Amino acid sequence: MSKPKIYLDIAVPVPIRRSFQYWAPSFNARPGIRVRVPFGTRKLIGIILSSSEDAVTDVERIKPVLEIIDLEPIFSTTLIKICNWAANYYLHPIGEVYFTAMTSKLRRGLPVSKQEAFLAVTQADENQAAQILQRAPRQNKIWQLIKGQSLIRRSDLKALNLTPGALEPLIKKGLLAWQKSAPQAPSTSPLKHPGLSLNRHQQVAISNIKDPGTHLLYGVTGSGKTEVYLQLIEKTLRNGKQALILVPEISLTPQTLGRFEQRFAVPIVTLHSGLTEHQRSANWIACYNGSAAIIIGTRSSVFAPMLRPGLIVVDEEHDISYKQQDGFRYSARDIAVIRGRWENIPVVLGSATPSLESLHNVRLGKYQLSSLPERATGAEREQYQLIDTRFTNSRSFLDKPMTDAIGKALQSGNQILVMINRRGYAPVLYCNECQWIAPCEHCDARLTVHQKQAVLRCHHCGFQTDLPKICANCRQHSLTPVGEGTQRIEESLNNLFPDYPVLRVDSDSTKSKHAMQELFEQINLGKPAILVGTQLLAKGHHFAHVTMVVVLEIDSGLMSSDYRSLEKIGQLIVQAGGRSGRESKKGKVFLPTAFPEHRELNQLTQKDYLEFADTLLTQRQQYRLPPFYFHAIVRAESRNRNKALQYLDSLRKATANADSIEILGPVLPAMEKRVGYYRAQLLIVSNRRGELHRAMLQIIEVAERIKASTVRWSLDVDPYDLY
Ligand code: ADP
Ligand code: ZN
Ligand code: ZN
Repeated sequence: MSKPKIYLDIAVPVPIRRSFQYWAPSFNARPGIRVRVPFGTRKLIGIILSSSEDAVTDVERIKPVLEIIDLEPIFSTTLIKICNWAANYYLHPIGEVYFTAMTSKLRRGLPVSKQEAFLAVTQADENQAAQILQRAPRQNKIWQLIKGQSLIRRSDLKALNLTPGALEPLIKKGLLAWQKSAPQAPSTSPLKHPGLSLNRHQQVAISNIKDPGTHLLYGVTGSGKTEVYLQLIEKTLRNGKQALILVPEISLTPQTLGRFEQRFAVPIVTLHSGLTEHQRSANWIACYNGSAAIIIGTRSSVFAPMLRPGLIVVDEEHDISYKQQDGFRYSARDIAVIRGRWENIPVVLGSATPSLESLHNVRLGKYQLSSLPERATGAEREQYQLIDTRFTNSRSFLDKPMTDAIGKALQSGNQILVMINRRGYAPVLYCNECQWIAPCEHCDARLTVHQKQAVLRCHHCGFQTDLPKICANCRQHSLTPVGEGTQRIEESLNNLFPDYPVLRVDSDSTKSKHAMQELFEQINLGKPAILVGTQLLAKGHHFAHVTMVVVLEIDSGLMSSDYRSLEKIGQLIVQAGGRSGRESKKGKVFLPTAFPEHRELNQLTQKDYLEFADTLLTQRQQYRLPPFYFHAIVRAESRNRNKALQYLDSLRKATANADSIEILGPVLPAMEKRVGYYRAQLLIVSNRRGELHRAMLQIIEVAERIKASTVRWSLDVDPYDLY
């Protein structure tokens, strides 16, 4: 007699937009459990999505599951719902969505091992324990070391100089037991240090943010948003729940971690790409089994498993790094909002410069707004000054009034921050004789001069070549670096102010693991210094001694054809400006520009960010742009010129017209060739989400039908970059 079969829908990591059915003899195959399945000639790890007693196709053709890996689901019912939602919303292959949510060990099919769970002390009675260990002095010694702890993690053992093996006898005697999930948080206080006493605005915000739903916390820089997060987390912990905090950059995790560890006496873990595979896996398990009370992570940790979810915070919610720009192009902020809804918990989106999307959602009544309009320390808001560059003849921003101001600030013992969003020495290597400019062989881009390493580098594809001595075109010794990057500004400032340190912070200077940490430690010593950096410097850092900020090269942002660039430059200016005058000293921000009368720039600097954002929203509505209209992009690329364009053209022709849908293109992006591929794109626009989705489904259907082996195509729903 054959065993009854059940049929399983399984998500497999292949670039195909559907799941696959397999059969298994076991009824233990529940959704969220990993399996090993045959796929073509390969064996792949898959996730069970659902089971049924009916086969979708010919029963004979359905293959059996080879192995059921997990005893318990690694995805909760809610996480399954979220991954399914994301695959559908972003029109991305479902197996790849699930794999984004897994650690590399889980992807390889390795077990969620017992070893990485933790030990709980099961025998609480002192006398009984003493009796059991009477004739085992060595075990008794170990017992004395650990009996006071309610749970012991593998990482704790090292600190106690113990190996897991040394604990085996105690487990056998029933004093300790491996546990998969943590007990409810202890009823003792989760705090190491008490919180600050809140000001009126913070109190209102905290009492607003008690219900499930999405809350936008708009607080000017230094207004004490972090204190609000901390006290919301405290409430969450007291309810025995876990809190998930998303931050935009890895560089912010140590800083955020430090602040949280100072406040809380509970286990805190981080999740980001800077961890070793082993750390990441251990931390994932701590989230999964509930032993981690607070989880701090970057983009993909929006999928972190939580046994007892209680709160999600998205710090700096406007930050573009929440949107993945390749592969599975999802927005972690938007998924956090969906997750909060289905977990039925509050989600807090915090920012001093909220995205237009979030402000729009407040107006629609979808998000609730709480505001912190003043600096918590009582410091005055920074002051902005536009510097008219139209009539200066010096090429550099370092003219006399500016160097005077910097000199004065240094002499008064303060720090100055100079921000330019371009790393390297100079963006262009130019021939004075024949006007040749050093190009990248693989992109429609110029090579950036990196003087110290004496190389030219492409910031788009990573191509690198030695700095040439003569022009490749006319063979003269006539090459000059033109324009400025962080390294050149560092050099100029070093020459002008030889008595003060110039500290450069960009992705080149912070490549090694601890470089960033060391730079920040040096900055925080508070000695007079000049900090030069890219936007890395503008993000969330608290510099107590900066009184002066200069933001360079804002004009390209003011004048760009990309409709988002004005929003982005406005956010950058306010975020950079907000690094100044955070404590008692008042901050001043200088903005060199050839457009000192620019209307929106003046709203931003003379009024505030909200007024600036209001104007931008009005324009977006007028020009039928997001967040009023919805966008999706089909991108295509090919090694052969024009192939991508032709492919999209045939795609467009094969797609039926619909009333509420507008298809624009295909067009070539400004940088047509990138990393060796020629690119083109179609933009699909609608003010109705459902219609846009239907149109995209149709396009996918056509795209999968049209054969074009030399063209790769991809989709981007709610794109951040139009190119
Ligand atoms: P944000 O995250 O909004 O930029 P922070 O939370 O970093 O602001 O707070 C800025 C400064 O204000 C910090 O030094 C913080 O300790 C202080 N601060 C925050 N809340 C209070 C409060 N209620 N009373 C006194 N100081 C506060
Ligand atoms: Zn030349
Ligand atoms: Zn390149």
